[in-house]
Amino acid sequence: MDTAPDSTSFDADVAVIGLGAVGSSAAWRLAARGLDVLGFEQFEPGHAWGGSTGKTRLFRVACLEHPGLTPIARRARDLWRELEASSGEPLFLETGGIMVGPPDSHLIEGTLRAAEAHDLPVERLDAEAIARRSPANARIEPGDVGVWDPEAGILRPEAAIIAAAAAARAAGADLRTGVRVVAIEPDADGVTIRTAGPGEADAPSFRVRRVAVTAGPWIGRFVPEVPLTPHRVVMTWFRPREGHAADLDVLPVFIRSVPGHDTWIWGHGALPDGDARARGFGGFDAKVGPEFDGPFDADDPDAIDREVHPGETDGISELVAATFPDLEPDPSGVTTCIMTHTPDGQFVVGPTADPRVFVGGGCSGHSFKHASALGELVAQAVAGEPAFTDASFLDPRRFATAPATG
Ligand SMILES: Cc1cc2nc3c(=O)[nH]c(=O)nc-3n(C[C@H](O)[C@H](O)[C@H](O)COP(=O)(O)OP(=O)(O)OC[C@H]3O[C@@H](n4cnc5c(N)ncnc54)[C@H](O)[C@@H]3O)c2cc1C
Repeated sequence: MDTAPDSTSFDADVAVIGLGAVGSSAAWRLAARGLDVLGFEQFEPGHAWGGSTGKTRLFRVACLEHPGLTPIARRARDLWRELEASSGEPLFLETGGIMVGPPDSHLIEGTLRAAEAHDLPVERLDAEAIARRSPANARIEPGDVGVWDPEAGILRPEAAIIAAAAAARAAGADLRTGVRVVAIEPDADGVTIRTAGPGEADAPSFRVRRVAVTAGPWIGRFVPEVPLTPHRVVMTWFRPREGHAADLDVLPVFIRSVPGHDTWIWGHGALPDGDARARGFGGFDAKVGPEFDGPFDADDPDAIDREVHPGETDGISELVAATFPDLEPDPSGVTTCIMTHTPDGQFVVGPTADPRVFVGGGCSGHSFKHASALGELVAQAVAGEPAFTDASFLDPRRFATAPATG
């Protein structure tokens, strides 16, 4: 990035707005490049009010959503491992993962497409092999097949974000938490960042050369031309029935079709407190969630209903009952979270039409695993470096309508 002095004085080379999954890593990767970074987070890193709460997130390398995501997942895993080392916190647990569904489903075809494109060591499974690999997944429709992704696993989102923010600070970033940005104003020389700290009538503003907007569900406040739909979702956990098992040995990371239903579910088994593999992950019950296939209502991220109402979990309970005879279908735990959808289900990472404004977000329900590497891609875009992989399918400008001709 060109940091030559000019007529304006700057508070930093780059501001990062929002220090959640992508933003904390973007701040880290920018600071690691020697850029002067000013980061803003309206809450505290690891908070429960954005898109990254809920104890765990699934990690997969054979990414059914797009084969171009595989190199991003692998780079992300390296960075998560680096954060594990710097923080001393366990962040990633490799469990392997199983995908189960009709052979011509997007779930199976998409997984195999990514595996073939990158020569991944996945295994194709028939019904018997599915039951052997994951006894809890033995109930399937006739004809369903499985794919085993040995590199799949579980991440700890809150701890990972805290670790990335700490790494950013250690690399020299100035991170301001409890500070809400209210406006970004790009001009010919740079960008003015206006804040509204709690209780401050005249909160300070800052001048930076460039800005990375990584505000998750709130990105639309700053970059309305990127079409994002924040949407409230409910996450659910389930306990095994008395005398039955549903831990990670029998129920590793999974995405699978539901017998008798035209939909998928995703999740992972339980990791009891004290389990040797827990390594500080903390105990949790099995997690099961529904496919999110839209259409989605746009919810105001500042006005999310945090209460879970009677009847709201009936749908997922029915899917659990149809799939997993070993689980109690009534949830043992529930919480709310915000998912932010793009029109094509891929993230938005890179430059906008304004050369000083960059974006990293658009989770579409599958970005946490990639977030450390998405932070790296944001940093490379801001710094003017070539991306470590072809990420053109994530270009935020892909939704711009073509200018009228004639
Ligand atoms: C139910 C559910 C399940 C999911 N499961 C998976 C999964 O299994 N695997 C996977 O890979 N992904 C999964 N995802 C997706 C993933 O968790 C999220 O996409 C990802 O964590 C979002 O990261 P983000 O950085 O875009 O947003 P966030 O983590 O929400 O970060 C945005 C940050 O910006 C801050 N901010 C916003 N506005 C301002 C402002 N004005 N001033 C200062 N700060 C601001 C917010 O407070 C927040 O901290 C799931 C998502 C959901 C909702």
